[in-house]
Amino acid sequence: MNTTLLQLKLHRHIFMEQSELPEMPGSLVYVIAGNGVFLWGKRDGLEALIPVSECTIRGLYPVAPFVRLDGPRLPSDLVDYMVQIVRRARSESGLVGFECLFYLAYAAGDPQAWEVTMPSQIQTPVSVRPVLEELDSLAYAQVLMEVHSHPAMSAFYSGTDDRDEKGFRLYGVIGLPWSPDGDQAGQVEICMRISIFGSYWDIPPEWVLDLPDGLVAAGPQDDGNHHEEGDTHAKETAS
Ligand SMILES: [Zn+2]
Repeated sequence: MNTTLLQLKLHRHIFMEQSELPEMPGSLVYVIAGNGVFLWGKRDGLEALIPVSECTIRGLYPVAPFVRLDGPRLPSDLVDYMVQIVRRARSESGLVGFECLFYLAYAAGDPQAWEVTMPSQIQTPVSVRPVLEELDSLAYAQVLMEVHSHPAMSAFYSGTDDRDEKGFRLYGVIGLPWSPDGDQAGQVEICMRISIFGSYWDIPPEWVLDLPDGLVAAGPQDDGNHHEEGDTHAKETAS
């Protein structure tokens, strides 16, 4: 019985009793360190050590969290490609924008070559969802970064995003503030976080992508204030 339990154990646990991280004992590891509890995860193309809870634990060494891609960062031309599509995703009148969803993965598994795809998707001004029946689940498993847009809103993670973004990958939001008359009203911005199966860590987007001209990193996220996309959209379009 005990042997079976051990084989099924998903997470490993280590104490930082030495100054360097040891060899990874499993693909999901809780690290108890002098500066808190961290989650260490590794999958094809991506490895990260993210803070779960900050605290001081005397007698253990500290660790420094990180996000590590197998290859280079997402190049600015691919980021700009997404921004241009997001800008054009509007109703015929131009007054209403629709959310867009992008998947980014290594082409044929080669970490030197990023590729961007748009899955078949259902787009509204306040939501976007892939058409699950048409989703290639094998290809989706290789997706390292998922980016969606917020037309007429800033870049932030909504309650819906928190419910949807439970994989082990990077998740980004492109915010595209527009004024009610259809003009672009503000600076286009992007925020980025990593999720290890629903444990999140906000990171500077520049860690994993090159910002093209006209796109800036969003400011720090307001923890504990995860409003809904529809709420914000209604507020902004009503003003
Ligand atoms: Zn969202």
